[in-house]
Amino acid sequence: MSKKKVIAGNWKMNKTPSETAEFISELSVRLKGVKDTVICAVPYVCISAALKAVNKSKIKIAAQSMHYEENGAFTGEVSANMLNDLNIKYVIIGHSERRQYYNETDLTVNKKALQALKHGISPIICVGESLEQREMNVTEDLVRYQVKYALSGVVENDMQNVVFAYEPIWAIGTGKTATSQQADEVCACIRKAISEKYSKKIANRVPILYGGSVNAKNASELFAMSDIDGGLVGGASLKIDDFEKIIKY
Ligand code: PEP
Repeated sequence: MSKKKVIAGNWKMNKTPSETAEFISELSVRLKGVKDTVICAVPYVCISAALKAVNKSKIKIAAQSMHYEENGAFTGEVSANMLNDLNIKYVIIGHSERRQYYNETDLTVNKKALQALKHGISPIICVGESLEQREMNVTEDLVRYQVKYALSGVVENDMQNVVFAYEPIWAIGTGKTATSQQADEVCACIRKAISEKYSKKIANRVPILYGGSVNAKNASELFAMSDIDGGLVGGASLKIDDFEKIIKY
């Protein structure tokens, strides 16, 4: 039996709470009968509106980041406990935009992953190389390092709640997609790194998504690859027709 796919939209800093409510209600109607896991990572201020709009559908609402501390003097931040109180089950961690603009490092990615897991929230951990790193031929070494660092201290039992997303930085928001072959190779490398740390059985169960200019045209080819378990979709997840097509790839 083929594995259930996971298709997650990353809305970034887009849509107001009212726009969110409208989009999610419409999407929940369009997705009746869809068996795959569909996640929308919305801005913090849109979470409540999104949760209300989900109604009885199976769409999951995610946060786009969180802090690794329990609480305290971190102006503007949000804790895992707060997300948990809202019943949020997924959080994106280590997105390249967070790494680039907000000093997210492999160390904070690890701390956040541990903190999310402690609160029963699945981290969607993003890893991936820059164009320069790809051209230097260090993609697989770098990604293995990012994966192992992110998982430092994560116990075997928590691996059932971990999701990875391979997002080559050069493909995010640029319209340049990795070829399905390139994406599959790196997703396989992520799986191997997980397998080395835990076991093949555990590695096979971890959803590994591809992200980077996924659209309605390239989704089916990417999602057909053996090590790609779905997608993390930025721009195209903001347009309901495109996102619906990607989900029904
Ligand atoms: C992303 O931001 O995670 C992403 C993959 O963006 P896009 O699909 O727009 O490239």
